[in-house]
Amino acid sequence: MYFVLCTLIKTKGQEQSTKHKAQNTMDQIPPAFGYIVAGVFGAVIGSFLNVVIHRVPIEESIVFPNSRCPSCGAAIAFYDNIPVLSYLALRGKCRGCKEHISFRYPAVELLTAALFVAVAWHDGFTPALPFDLIFVTALVALVFIDAEHMILPNVITYPGIVFALLARIAIPYLMGRPYFDDIPSLSGGALADMPVWVISLAGALIGALIGGGSLWLMGWTWEKLRGIEAMGLGDVKMMFMVGAYLGWRLTILTIFVGVLTGSVIGIILMARQGQRNMQLLLPFGVFLGLGAVAALLFGAPIVAWYAGQFR
Ligand SMILES: [Zn+2]
Repeated sequence: MYFVLCTLIKTKGQEQSTKHKAQNTMDQIPPAFGYIVAGVFGAVIGSFLNVVIHRVPIEESIVFPNSRCPSCGAAIAFYDNIPVLSYLALRGKCRGCKEHISFRYPAVELLTAALFVAVAWHDGFTPALPFDLIFVTALVALVFIDAEHMILPNVITYPGIVFALLARIAIPYLMGRPYFDDIPSLSGGALADMPVWVISLAGALIGALIGGGSLWLMGWTWEKLRGIEAMGLGDVKMMFMVGAYLGWRLTILTIFVGVLTGSVIGIILMARQGQRNMQLLLPFGVFLGLGAVAALLFGAPIVAWYAGQFR
């Protein structure tokens, strides 16, 4: 749907500087309508994510069979599978066995809807929007699977890395050369005469190495110091994906937000449980996912402000 919208805008439209593109394309679609479509689409994707979050960790197909009640096994009819609304209509209980349906289902749908609206607000209805929506969708799946199972499955992180690289190649052509903030700084020196996709991939590589590398280093250091395996390779692969997509500046911000929120939550949980041995295991991917979404939505002004402190 977004591709269609975007193509319409492109053919209708005009070559503008990238900075004003979002602004101008927004003027052509009534924003409220666009945001409603984004929100509804997000809720539907959230409904699909519920299937992914439930089935991927237990290695079931995400396509077959149709959704079933986890308690009584009854197939869920399409009219009982409408995002959020069905949960409200059924008052959170299975139509067959009356067992409580986890609040996670409508929560994932509402969260994904809200994130889609936020990303549409951030990007405008531009060709970059579908890419950012896919990125956020992968993050939501990783966050909820990690929260429940403490794993970040390869079936999401590996395609995520490939997706990030493809986006890196495509987006500078769709959105203009300076879209990724690391491209201008890489365009000099040895890369000066290279096509933009090579420069963009170089930025992806640097971001991936900084993202994955720092996670690997944290885990390695912690293991040497404490003798326990603290960081799974899943976190490293997740940060390869995030780093390649966001570039090194936003990746550092992602890790900063992840460590900060993870520490705060960890300290609160340890204080409540009266633990003192610092061995509480937290799904770090949850906090890295939070950090990556924050970096995507709010990172550019934060990075600009931070860089401004040194001028
Ligand atoms: Zn049931």
